[in-house]
Formats: sequence, structure tokens, C-alpha cells
Amino acid sequence: MVRRECFKAAAGDSIFVLNVDLHCHSNASDGMLSAAEVVRRAAADGVGLLALTDHDTLAGLPAAAAAARETGIGWVSGVEISIEWRSVQVHILGLDFDYENPALNAGLARIRSGRIERARRMGEALAEAGIEGAFEGAMRHAEHPELVSRSHFARYLVEKGICRDHRRVFDEWMVPGKPGYVDHRWAGLEEALEWIHGASGVAVVAHPGRYLFSSAALKQFFRDFKTQGGEGIEVVSGGHTREQSKYFSRLAKHFGFSASRGSDFHGPGESCIGPGALDPLPEGLTPVWSLFRESFLEPPACRRNGPDTTTS
Ligand SMILES: [Zn+2]
Ligand SMILES: [Zn+2]
Repeated sequence: MVRRECFKAAAGDSIFVLNVDLHCHSNASDGMLSAAEVVRRAAADGVGLLALTDHDTLAGLPAAAAAARETGIGWVSGVEISIEWRSVQVHILGLDFDYENPALNAGLARIRSGRIERARRMGEALAEAGIEGAFEGAMRHAEHPELVSRSHFARYLVEKGICRDHRRVFDEWMVPGKPGYVDHRWAGLEEALEWIHGASGVAVVAHPGRYLFSSAALKQFFRDFKTQGGEGIEVVSGGHTREQSKYFSRLAKHFGFSASRGSDFHGPGESCIGPGALDPLPEGLTPVWSLFRESFLEPPACRRNGPDTTTS
């Protein structure tokens, strides 16, 4: 069941409702659909404002932008950057930036160049644990070899019947301390923020409930992120429980962060939550899309979306 409500604002006599999804993936990284298909699917599901946020690549953005124009859906550029903070891998979303910015493109190219090497080492680690052929198997699932990720390994392990589903592969094989996990040097927080802000974008911590931080470390991370100019956190996420959304809603207010909402959709069958099929942002938060260069806070009737998002 798709939830259409995400953001409400009084606009004259009517209430303006916009379904926002600022986190999803295409096969430009580890999603299953093409960038254009993701946009069309989101439009069909009632999303009014979308960002495609592939891992460490902007390759899907031109096709996504074209599909957004075709379908009339609101759209901003996006990316999910893998960084490392105190030896924990964290994902930072960049939103509404200039996707031709040279420094951002060069930075992402550098992150990508390390992925194949990491995948090779993961394949070796899994072979030592008795799973043969994982590197080749993961590469078969990766549309773009330089973006091979743990999700591609997960697909291989599920296909081989080693685990029932993705989540189990991650929990049992792919996280620190498990046999398929290998260390990798990602970008630093400061670098990623420089790239995003240098391209006039907005930086958001993706799915903060998914990291292996103690609560004190997470708060310290938020303080660092804030000090370095980070604007928002994903409060409502496909990777969060309702309790977590409430918790991060409180933290967003406490730290003065804007709030984002994103499904982290990777494809039908792989994600439990489709584009835009999320709870609304809790009351009293500043939506991160109020920081975007184009205003998405007024009724779209005279803008780009159909009357579907305006109700009396
Ligand atoms: Zn992520
Ligand atoms: Zn993601």
C-alpha cells in the first residue's frame, strides 16, 4: 500500500501533500532497474519528488532526469557516498547538486577504483570460509564492475542457497567480524562534505539506524557532521523501524538537522518497501527539501506535478 502523505502545507484553502523519496538505487550501482525504470516506477507509485542516489556514481542521473521530465515527477540529483568515520562505514547522501561538478566526479571516481580490489579480497575471504566462486558470481550480478558491492555478493549467496535472503547474508557474512567482510579505505567525512557542498548540494546522513555505533559514538558522529556543515539526517527510511524514526526525529530536533525521507529501494523483490511507500515525516521537523534550489513546498498545480498531489 503506497502512502501518499509525506509533507503537508496549507496552501490557500487546500492542503498540499507531496510524497517525497530521496533515496533509491538503479542498476547504475546495485539496484535492479535502470535509472529511467526507477523514475517511472516512482511516478506510477505516486512519488511527487524523487532523488536517485546510486552508490558512488552519477552515471544514472542524466537518464533519470530525462525520465523525470517525461513523467512530470519532481526530481533532484542524488548520490550515496561511502565514507569511513572511526573505522565504521557510513553512507552520506548528496542531494540537489550540480552533477557535472569536476571535483565531485573525480572524488567518486577515486572511491570506485577501490571497489574491484575490495571485491577480489572478499572473494578470497569467502573462499577461505568454504564458499567458492563468490567474486565471479558477484561480478556476474554487477552491471558496472567498478561498482561491485556487498549486495552483489549477497545475490550470489542467495542464488547458491547459502542464505535465504539478503538481510541474512549481510548479518551472517558481510559485516565486520564475519568471514566475508574486508576492510576498505573509503572517503573521509570531510572530503565527502567538501565534494557535495562544492557542487552546491545538501548533505544528509543515510539510514542512521543501520550503523554499528554505540549511541554515544553516533551522537559524536552527528556532532562532527554538524560542525562540518552537514544539513540533514534520514529520519524516515526503508531501513528503519517506526521506533527508530521517532528516535531520529528527536535527534534531528536536538542537533538542528533537517529531516529526510527515503525508501532505499533497490528493486522489486529485493526491497520490502517500494518508492515512496513510507510513513510521513513526524510533525515539527524541517524537511530537507526546503533547502533545495527549486521550491517544492508549494502546490505543484502550477509547477510540474499533476493535480494528484493537491487535495481539498
Ligand atoms: Zn546505504
Ligand atoms: Zn542506499
